[in-house]
Amino acid sequence: MKIRLIYPKFRKFLEDQPALRSTLEKHVVGDYTMPPSLALPILAALTPDDIEVNITDDNSGMPLDFDEKVDLVVISCFTPQAQRAYEIADEFRRRGTKVALGGIHPTALPEEAKLHADSVCIGEGEPVWPELLDDVRKGTMKDFYKYDGVYDLAKFPIPKREIFPRDRYKWNAHIVLTMRGCPVNCAGCPIPGKEGPMFRFRPVENVVEDIRTMPYREFYITDDTVMLPGKRNQKYLLNLMEKTQGMDISIFLASTMMMVPDPEFYRKLKAGGASSMYTIFHFDRTSKDLFDMNCSKEHWQYCIDLVRMIEDAGIHFFGSFGIGFDDQDRGVTDRILRFCDDAKIDLAEFFIITPFPGTPFGIQCEKEGRILHRNYSMWNHGNVVFQPKNWTCEELTSDYQKLWLEFYKGKEPENTLSSFDVNSLSL
Ligand code: SF4
Repeated sequence: MKIRLIYPKFRKFLEDQPALRSTLEKHVVGDYTMPPSLALPILAALTPDDIEVNITDDNSGMPLDFDEKVDLVVISCFTPQAQRAYEIADEFRRRGTKVALGGIHPTALPEEAKLHADSVCIGEGEPVWPELLDDVRKGTMKDFYKYDGVYDLAKFPIPKREIFPRDRYKWNAHIVLTMRGCPVNCAGCPIPGKEGPMFRFRPVENVVEDIRTMPYREFYITDDTVMLPGKRNQKYLLNLMEKTQGMDISIFLASTMMMVPDPEFYRKLKAGGASSMYTIFHFDRTSKDLFDMNCSKEHWQYCIDLVRMIEDAGIHFFGSFGIGFDDQDRGVTDRILRFCDDAKIDLAEFFIITPFPGTPFGIQCEKEGRILHRNYSMWNHGNVVFQPKNWTCEELTSDYQKLWLEFYKGKEPENTLSSFDVNSLSL
């Protein structure tokens, strides 16, 4: 049996903003791509040896062969990839090849995805993968696959990251999974919808083994849930960081502003190899009111102190600021810039809130009839795809551009790059 995995292309943040692009290129922000999602390397790792598995990384420009004779094409996508995923799926199916779709977007909109696929995987792919393979062999593929239990992350394999062609990318980093699930339910986040409302932790020893076997010395923990201030989450992360001490690695952590206000905590993270803290604002309750007209001086200062605490521990703070939320007014742009100035943030990105399917904000926009179009390739946080409440679409685009230009005005690239090697960010 032969399987072709496909990672569809998606438009980067600034792809539709040529004016910004030329100004910001030297800062190497807004235009980089993360290492690819782990979804396909995980499926490759879970596939029995008697099945041939290959990948086409459409995102890095690998050519697609629609006439290839394979038993199954598997496409995993998040929303900015969905348009392209559907186009590719339709082309294969036109030639009689079976296609299965999975990932964040098909999980949120399975009926829509089914229009382009023989099967749709809803939720986590790992527990249903053996059943899907078995059905492909027997020619009895089902319309939908959905695991009703709770997938135990102790069973999570070491992903076959090497299926992605390294020579097509310049990065030296990859993603490591630590946790799944989240009960917090931030307005713009699809995680609780895809992974459920319970924290699940991958055993620390498995994470360490994964890190040891990787050919990368830099990696991303994109699960911002490890940074949440709950006791279990803190204990888990500190335990991991104790074990990564002395491994000569560089860890790019992600978080919201719901973090522990304790300098010692960040010193321990630094000792474990943490080098950068990518922090998204306005999703969570700590930063939600920060840019309100009536934000208290104490809260403003609390958030500044948190940023400085992380920087003082030797971890580079990378702020990610969104605009266009219903509870923001147009003055938010100046307040974000003032905050960056007050907190001495030297690396930041800016985004327009996007009503991703399955998120609380997406569901609300859908209900209120505010979705402007479903050209998902434009749903990449760099375009206005819904009707904002307190901006016109043009005003929101203009404020978004202003944030980028004002923040980087007068900054020299060497002061703004993240502590990662430039090559890891510059595809
Ligand atoms: S942004 Fe983080 S904390 Fe908020 S719902 Fe998503 S995973 Fe949970």
